[in-house]
Amino acid sequence: MNAGRPTPLWPGRPRPLPGETFSSWFSRTAWSNGLTPAELYGVATSGAQIHSRDLDRLAERSLLIRLSAATGISADILADAMVTRWAGHLYDAEERHIRLPWLPSVGTERTRPSFGQQFCPLCLAEDPVPYFRLGWRLYFVTACRRHRVHLCDRCPGCGEPIQPLKTIRTRTDLECHKCGSKLMAAPAAPAEDFFTQARLLTATGQDEIDLPGYGPIRQPLFFELVLRLLRLVAGGSFARALRAQLAESADDLSQFADIPIRADPYQFEPRQRHLLIALAARMLDDWPLRFHATCKAADVSRWQLERTSRSPMTLLKKDCHDGKHQPNIAMISPN
Ligand SMILES: [Zn+2]
Ligand SMILES: [Zn+2]
Repeated sequence: MNAGRPTPLWPGRPRPLPGETFSSWFSRTAWSNGLTPAELYGVATSGAQIHSRDLDRLAERSLLIRLSAATGISADILADAMVTRWAGHLYDAEERHIRLPWLPSVGTERTRPSFGQQFCPLCLAEDPVPYFRLGWRLYFVTACRRHRVHLCDRCPGCGEPIQPLKTIRTRTDLECHKCGSKLMAAPAAPAEDFFTQARLLTATGQDEIDLPGYGPIRQPLFFELVLRLLRLVAGGSFARALRAQLAESADDLSQFADIPIRADPYQFEPRQRHLLIALAARMLDDWPLRFHATCKAADVSRWQLERTSRSPMTLLKKDCHDGKHQPNIAMISPN
């Protein structure tokens, strides 16, 4: 770099907005300096290509330090705007996940579309400078509490996943990089019942989560448990029967009529996910009694469940064997 001389500040140095993602700030910084995000990435890394990198996950410390020197914004503030702030909380930090639980990538993942960046069109429409929020990256956040609408996770025009570093930014709009549709013009569907979303958001701030009927469990384990329960109602051979057992009425069940059975829970749209996560979370009540009762009523035997590699029961058993939790007697109740 400058051999001892301080890095000159760039002319455009926008401050991160409240709750803004790192990549959204990076994009605004690029445009405010007359560059595209890909060009700014090349400048900041001495010529590296950005390709489709998910900078909210993969920006390296050296890049943050370089950006900090050129903008005067602390590298720690920039790091806190990345999804990796949840390492050790939503997922075990030492595990090398290809896909982070509850934090799918933006753009593509294993060659499939990945809808990791959601947005509320009404929030964007109200923003003096529209920007992406970090909270919209959490896969269990499916609705905007402020506007009581479901989030959107794809372009309203062409259905492409949102990629903040490719999204075209005008003075007041964000537009799809493929078809030019305005994101804030996306239809906003009304949402209700924020209980499960609020419960999971609260859990992101707790080291241990009290599982009623079971006791406290470590935060990453809680989120893995909820993900496994979601997988059970989302796809696989037990999903339809479990949905029927967990629904509280025929009307309740009818909401699921148009929600397909899918093995990959990361392909559901926000409204579908909203309903499925709430349904899965019902099995957390009086853990594991309601879970066992639901499985039994749905004709899913303990033996069948244990054969699935992502069984919720296996997860908690492993934790017990690791000595991290002493089970109470209810844990061992037979199916
Ligand atoms: Zn909103
Ligand atoms: Zn589009």
